[in-house]
Amino acid sequence: MEKAKAGHRPYTSQLARKENLFKVLVLGDFEVGKSCLVNRYVHGVFTNNYKATQGVDFALKVLQWSASETVRLQLWDIAGQERFTSMTRLYYREAAACVIMFDVTNKASFLNSQKWKEDLDNKVVLSNGTPVPCILLANKCDLSPWAVTKEEIDLFSKENMFIGWTETSVKENRNINESMNVLVAKMMDNGEGVAALSGNGDYINLQLVPTPGYGCC
Ligand code: GDP
Ligand code: MG
Repeated sequence: MEKAKAGHRPYTSQLARKENLFKVLVLGDFEVGKSCLVNRYVHGVFTNNYKATQGVDFALKVLQWSASETVRLQLWDIAGQERFTSMTRLYYREAAACVIMFDVTNKASFLNSQKWKEDLDNKVVLSNGTPVPCILLANKCDLSPWAVTKEEIDLFSKENMFIGWTETSVKENRNINESMNVLVAKMMDNGEGVAALSGNGDYINLQLVPTPGYGCC
């Protein structure tokens, strides 16, 4: 077997030099699909009755964001505490981004998204004092009829200062990686490119969002 020459590093080890670790919160009412989202995003599967332990469930998603940058997302999924529409400051501490999810067939879960957003903004800000970027996901878009209109969601998203919103179906794997990429781009923000496509609460047209050419590692 050929020995590696001293001092020579294989090409692959020179990739992924810069590591970024982000804490991402997943909030929303009970049964809107939070745990399914995490499961789908991290493990690529949809489990109908995924039961998390009570408290907070953690999952790690690793993305090769560019040739030289790795992104590690530590996803914090709440379980069994949804009825309070509130979490402790400790839970929010050092969060870099947030997903607030509701069920399009459940109006109360949509209205409660406002409480979740208020709780988030009252308890944490980024180190530069700005709000934690938060995306609004209208989940279960595979079901009908919807209990809210797209116009209502749009207005709501702008008024409550989400970076933007989009419809998702964790079940049918629609817009999951794409919407998470928007959030990652926001955290990696360079003020242009993908990040510039969101920010003012608008509907996020995911057709316009290029996916990083590297994917999961
Ligand atoms: P959580 O309480 O927010 O964590 O919700 P779960 O992830 O446990 O999901 C609650 C229920 O909604 C489960 O029965 C899932 O199968 C279902 N569910 C989750 N996402 C979707 C979706 O996109 N479409 C449909 N039709 N059902 C979904
Ligand atoms: Mg859950």
